[in-house]
Amino acid sequence: KADDKVAMMEAHELLAKLYHHCLVNTAQGAKALQYLKNRGFDEETIARFQIGYAPNSWDTATSFLMRRNVPLELCMQAGLLGKREFDGKYFDRFRDRIMFPIWDRNGKTIGFGGRILDEGEPKYLNSPETLIFNKGSNLYGMHLARPNMRKKQQAVLFEGYVDTIAAWRAGVTNGVATLGTSLTDDQAKLLKRNVASIVICYDSDQAGIEATFRASSILAKAECNVKIAQMPDGLDPDDYIQKFGAEKFNRDVIGASLTVMAFKIQYFRRGKNLNDEGERMLYIEEVVKEISLLKNAVEKDHYLRQLADEFNLSLEALKQQQFQINKQQK
Ligand code: ATP
Ligand code: MN
Ligand code: MN
Ligand code: MN
Repeated sequence: KADDKVAMMEAHELLAKLYHHCLVNTAQGAKALQYLKNRGFDEETIARFQIGYAPNSWDTATSFLMRRNVPLELCMQAGLLGKREFDGKYFDRFRDRIMFPIWDRNGKTIGFGGRILDEGEPKYLNSPETLIFNKGSNLYGMHLARPNMRKKQQAVLFEGYVDTIAAWRAGVTNGVATLGTSLTDDQAKLLKRNVASIVICYDSDQAGIEATFRASSILAKAECNVKIAQMPDGLDPDDYIQKFGAEKFNRDVIGASLTVMAFKIQYFRRGKNLNDEGERMLYIEEVVKEISLLKNAVEKDHYLRQLADEFNLSLEALKQQQFQINKQQK
């Protein structure tokens, strides 16, 4: 079993080099390289993140691994190769995709994310859970970001590879990603061990906002100090940086990140006309309900006062309403 782990690590290390070589030095990789350049990836970034290209072929990786005496059955278990049912022949699982190596916290490659060029399904093909890749306890980019996290005592949490890399180019070098799964307690603990404060910077679409709420409560449970970055509707960090530039991303997104409560207040506001009495009442109820869930009494008082001032209500009335809500919830 220990030997299997070593061999699997070796296969990933070799393939990461092969894919990177195919991207950077071969004619087959030219269109992938062009795709990346069009998306703003420069040579330094491609090298730092060891980005690669899996050629449009059924046997490039297979025959490469065979020549190096790597056990192919293990490579199949690792999701690097497939196996044909009718004759037991192995074939490349990643074909015609941009390859993002996924590392453990020591920088050893333990998996891949493969992005299709342009349109098509699935957009990302990722390595499965394996002997060496435990998705729920790993964060993409951790070994690169960790020294910067510790220096800033802050981590930024993204959805995927592309956002983590785009943010790095924009000077945000303390970012890691969860890679399409929900944040786990293990990942929260890993962050907590390294930093005092975490900024969630997920996509600004419905799925991203829902994931943000889930992640923020998991981080709060791990006793992390959580902030949430806000971007205009529908954009993700990479889109934002392309559109508005690095400086504005640092200042108006990461630098202006909100407390969880302030983010929720903004969220309840969206699409409501607060001049309409019915919508205003609904909004006030949602906010009061949220405030009643806060643990800290000083914070509770702060947000209740803020709400009272905003709508010219008495603090007494809001406290009364909170009392009603608490009663209903019991
Ligand atoms: P791009 O800008 O290249 O489209 P993205 O990071 O914006 O990439 P999203 O669709 O927002 O892509 O997905 C975020 C992350 O979720 C990806 O990096 C990937 O890890 C994961 N993901 C997305 N689609 C899939 C999929 N079909 N299978 C598995 N994971 C996925
Ligand atoms: Mn997304
Ligand atoms: Mn996205
Ligand atoms: Mn994107």
